[in-house]
Amino acid sequence: MRNMNSQPWIQLRFDGATQWKHAVQQIRPSLVSIQTLLLVLFVTAATWRGAGQVATGETVIQKATEEFENSPMKTTSVGKSVFMLSGDGGNITAIADGGSTLLIDSGMDSRVTELSDAIAKATMRPVTRLVNTHWHFDHTGGNVYFGAAGVTIIAHENVKKRLTSVQDVPFTGMHDGHYPPQALPTLTYSNSMTLSQGSQQLALFNYGPAHTDGDTIIYIAPANVAVVGDIFSNHNYPIIDLASGGSIDGMIHSLDQVLAQTDEQTKIVPGHGLVATRADLQDYRDMLVQVRQRIKALISAGKAIDEAVAAAPTKDFDAKWGSGYVPPDVFTKMVFTSLLHSGNASQ
Ligand SMILES: [Zn+2]
Repeated sequence: MRNMNSQPWIQLRFDGATQWKHAVQQIRPSLVSIQTLLLVLFVTAATWRGAGQVATGETVIQKATEEFENSPMKTTSVGKSVFMLSGDGGNITAIADGGSTLLIDSGMDSRVTELSDAIAKATMRPVTRLVNTHWHFDHTGGNVYFGAAGVTIIAHENVKKRLTSVQDVPFTGMHDGHYPPQALPTLTYSNSMTLSQGSQQLALFNYGPAHTDGDTIIYIAPANVAVVGDIFSNHNYPIIDLASGGSIDGMIHSLDQVLAQTDEQTKIVPGHGLVATRADLQDYRDMLVQVRQRIKALISAGKAIDEAVAAAPTKDFDAKWGSGYVPPDVFTKMVFTSLLHSGNASQ
């Protein structure tokens, strides 16, 4: 367990795991009876187990961070010289050419050297360019490391704006910013941009605010890979970052664009979770549309946010989508608030 304080501009805590570690470190078997030792381990193990299952009061970000700090790093090939690295936060894509690696997202700050080693092993080429799919800490945490090494950081213009100010994401417990100068994008775009990396062409698109107001979708050809960032988590209800301009309507709009640009053979790299197919993306998009419709109906019926949560509008989807770090009640609140602010709840 690494300490989140290694990244001082992110104010996060997750006490269950650290309590467990400290309790074990502080026990001196020669000074305590076996009974006391067993009792301490039993109590702290219960705390730890609770922390892994959305313990009471644990925020979405605490639970996500715990997962990102502890998941094993995995490398998956998704095409010729194209790799997905997962475990240390959002999924990372690495594309190698003859002399360099282009990276999409940079994971957690606390695991960046582990990431760097995994990239070197997979591509055997140094990282020279880094594209961020959006500003969140689990996708930009390694920016300081790579930026300080002279890597060109590329992102939508609003990523730079978000990283240079303090951000609070409603319903998640996320409080983040200002990032140091070396973490900031040095090359930005507003609608679309193209890059090439060896034989692969990258088309970067922003389809308007969706998960945040600075999302980038990257199509890689001829590998036929679409890196979609956090507009899709496989299988998790998504975070909709309402403070960064995100909305349920924007998420669905962006997903419809991706569905129009991909085919049955396209490998979809989600922001989190396993590589998916276009059919998986369609299934997820249809779930979002149904949840939006149900919550619109609750708003039209005059329900308050807590009444909407109590009505369990996601109930039949929860088994598939609701066991991750965004529980059904949090997702319902995000969609409810998004629709209320968009003013189209009565349509
Ligand atoms: Zn995100």
